[in-house]
Order: sequence, then structure tokens, then C-alpha cells
Amino acid sequence: MLIILLGPPGAGKGTQAEEIAQKYNLVYISTGDILRKAVKEETSMGRNAREYMDQGQLVPDNLVVEIVRDRLMKPDCANGALLDGFPRTVDQAVFLDQVLPDIGAKIDRVLLIEVEENELIERLTGRRVCSNCGANYHIKYKPPQVRNVCDQCGGDLYQREDDSLATVKERLEVYKKQTEPLIKFYQGKGLLSSIDGNQNIEDVFGQVRNILEDL
Ligand code: AMP
Repeated sequence: MLIILLGPPGAGKGTQAEEIAQKYNLVYISTGDILRKAVKEETSMGRNAREYMDQGQLVPDNLVVEIVRDRLMKPDCANGALLDGFPRTVDQAVFLDQVLPDIGAKIDRVLLIEVEENELIERLTGRRVCSNCGANYHIKYKPPQVRNVCDQCGGDLYQREDDSLATVKERLEVYKKQTEPLIKFYQGKGLLSSIDGNQNIEDVFGQVRNILEDL
């Protein structure tokens, strides 16, 4: 099974992805996570990607498609994969269509999680991440027990560079211009299902389950 999660930054794709990957036994592939790791480890890819990411811009397609191709080719993806944050441009989607036959896979469903813009801004600017284990918090919706300290490992919490207000606004603009055209692209292929992401996490997941169980 190959599932794609589509939606603006802050829609809750990462949160849903964890549950979906676990329940359906899919390998979770987040291009954002892979790129952040490369930046942290200062690999050559990370050094190339960093300035785009910090400014809320998309990393050039050629860098990202290589990451995804390499990851999908690994044997653990034979049972299925869940793509979060890829594709983000129509060119990336076309690339994916070209690569999938090589690994004997096809897209089963594209799940579009939709959330209103004001809510997205509040979710993203309030997000805090553990510098040690990567756990996610929110200053209002999911505060840690001790301010700026991770409940799970005691690590320091920080705000992602690209979660500042100015960069969040830029990311939402980039989403509208470069990623939203994918909605029509996948609608045209009969693969798109829309989900109301303004609900709580469990209700959103309930909608996801209903869609995937019908496949
Ligand atoms: P995310 O964690 O998915 O919000 O991604 C964080 C950042 O990584 C984005 O703002 C982009 O700079 C970069 N990125 C992640 N996925 C892609 C992609 N498919 N294409 C281009 N840039 C990406």
C-alpha cells in the first residue's frame, strides 16, 4: 500500500502519519525529517538544503527526488510506505509516477488534510520540539509539564527556525503556489480524499481509517 499525505504545513500530517504507519504497517517517509537530519549532521545535502528550509522555501526538486527514490528502493518498503511532505510540486509528482513502476508500486490514495489558515498559524508558531528525542509539544494545546523541558527525556525544547511567524507565512504562501496544484493533479487521477483537519486528532484519524478501510 502506498499512501500520500497532502496538506498545508501545520495540518497535522506528522501526527496522523505516526498512527497510520503503525496501524497499517507502513514505512513512514517524511522528507522534512530526512532533510532536518541532514542539516543537523551537516552532510553536503544538509548544507545545500539549509538556507531554503530556514527561509520557508522548498528545497530544489533534484535534491528531494533523490532522497525519495533511494528510500523507496530499500527492501523494507516492499510492504508499503506512507509519504509525508512529498510530493510538494507537480514535477515531484510526475517523477514519483515515473519511479513507482520500477519498484512495482502504485499510489493507493492521497489523503488531503485541510485546516483553516488562522488555525495553521497558531499551531505552527506555538509548536516546540525536543532537541534530544524530537517529541512535539504546543505551548497552548500540549504544553510540557515543566516549561521548555521534554516530558519524555528531559531534553530542552526549542522552536524550529521555520516556525517563526514570518517564515510560517512564507511557507503557507509557498504551499498555495507550489503544492496546492497537486490537489487538482490527484483529483484528476481519482486518487484524492479530503479530510477535515479542524477536528481533534482522534476524529481526524477516524476519517482516515474509514477511507483506508474502503480500499
Ligand atoms: P516539513 O517538515 O514537511 O514541513 O518540511 C520542512 C521543510 O523541508 C520545508 O519547508 C522545505 O524547505 C523542505 N522540504 C520538505 N519536503 C520537501 C519537498 N518534498 N520538496 C521540497 N522541499 C521540501
